[in-house]
Amino acid sequence: MSLTIEEMAVFCKKKGFVYPNSEIYGGLSGFFDYGPLGVELKNNLKQAWWNYHVKRRDDIVGIDGSILANPKVWVASGHISNFTDILIECKKCHSRERADTVVEEKTKLSADGLNVKQLQELILKHHLKCPKCNSDFSEPSQFNLMFQTHVGPKQNEESIAYLRPETAQLIFANFKNILDTSRVKLPFGIAQIGKAFRNEIAPRNFLFRCREFEQMEIEYFVHPNHLQDCPYLRDIQNVEILTYSAEMQEKDLEPQKFKMKELLEKKIIKLSWHAYWLATEYNFFMQLGINPHNIRIRQHKKSELAHYASDCWDLEYKFPFGWKELQGIADRSDFDLKQHIKHSGKDLSIYDEEKKQKIIPLVIAEPSLGLDRSFLLLMYEAYYDDKERGNIVLKLPRQLTPYYCALFPLVKNKPELVAFAEEVYKDIKTSYSCYYDESGSVGRRYARADEIGVKYCITIDFDSLDDKQVTIRDRDTTKQERIPISKLKEQLYHLYQK
Ligand code: ATP
Repeated sequence: MSLTIEEMAVFCKKKGFVYPNSEIYGGLSGFFDYGPLGVELKNNLKQAWWNYHVKRRDDIVGIDGSILANPKVWVASGHISNFTDILIECKKCHSRERADTVVEEKTKLSADGLNVKQLQELILKHHLKCPKCNSDFSEPSQFNLMFQTHVGPKQNEESIAYLRPETAQLIFANFKNILDTSRVKLPFGIAQIGKAFRNEIAPRNFLFRCREFEQMEIEYFVHPNHLQDCPYLRDIQNVEILTYSAEMQEKDLEPQKFKMKELLEKKIIKLSWHAYWLATEYNFFMQLGINPHNIRIRQHKKSELAHYASDCWDLEYKFPFGWKELQGIADRSDFDLKQHIKHSGKDLSIYDEEKKQKIIPLVIAEPSLGLDRSFLLLMYEAYYDDKERGNIVLKLPRQLTPYYCALFPLVKNKPELVAFAEEVYKDIKTSYSCYYDESGSVGRRYARADEIGVKYCITIDFDSLDDKQVTIRDRDTTKQERIPISKLKEQLYHLYQK
């Protein structure tokens, strides 16, 4: 049995991964602070994502846009008029809920994409009441999720600005600058990692739905005449993924495993570039050792599609509260660039040398991954209550875990042993994340290290002083190996690359 989300929040706080924000003042709903271990894991995850998507590729460049932007950006993108959820308020206790969530939880029907009228009908038909005081709800209404603030000392209508609800628009707004100043050529992508803010009606499930979170996003631009010409198709055609198409959902069928080439042949996925990005994003999690049974791709039904999307698939993870979206991979077509051309009056086209004409590239895939949701996935995948050992083992991927290793002197009251251990520690620390622990028994130190995901524990004992060897213990197997200190860093490197 995996942990409930509440138990996971308790574990994360207890071990210093994540704390409720401003807790000493009663907290602020939907906001969290990452602690000493959490920030390491989160930074490692960001770095792994950036390496995989930007550093190791030739076709993607990055930006780091600001959180506030000219509000015209959000008019053009449609967020000011469309970025809403449907709200219902209890007539008695005035608690506010998302109408679709209440309908889904109480009726077990899918409420994705239903409009105000359809949700109201379901609320009346199923006699849905306030979960807190069992009273009636008011009529549903649209609620815009963007946080407002003011820029500058004069606070009036003109000084209003919005905290960005997604990172994507900064990529489109900078499109021309990037074209002019980098050597990108179609097909190419622009990536960004950064904060996003949404005034969620009912934040819940810990890091899953917060009001401040981070996204890791790419806009991938393709020539409109080459939508089926993905040159990397061979690399992903045999990737097999649990698939839940719109048709399967409409016909009440179970999700099924398909290879990418089958999905393209059967036209379940229409465009080769879209298939490529679904498989590439799935592979990101596979190379981190995530259990493939816990990840699937699900296509949005027509009613669910966002205003900008021609097709959209989500990468979903099996959280203890159900299969939920981890990442959206939408085909946004040329919606955003055309909107920004219209609203800014600027030319955001690309000159096609071959055809001698201007073209607007299409975003066939916008892989948009939540960093905090991925963090939660890592914690769930890693958490293991080892009854035999009698402690929790956090089996985090070795590339991401906050501490790759820990160094223990067998005892702390033998000065020559401690001095020797400190010397070895300092040397390891120049290359790897490592901490020094001399308190309590070695067994207790192993248990503490297991609980925060330390991959290797290195012990210096009395023999080490003479034979210049140390014991290295693997977190997952508990296997211990004795190796020469002169080979320690080499061995740690070898194990890291494995
Ligand atoms: P949901 O349907 O769960 O509200 P969404 O479809 O609105 O999500 P997108 O706009 O596609 O989400 O955002 C891309 C990604 O950003 C999501 O897949 C998710 O991982 C993350 N994300 C979105 N909203 C939140 C939130 N409130 N808290 C944490 N992460 C979020």
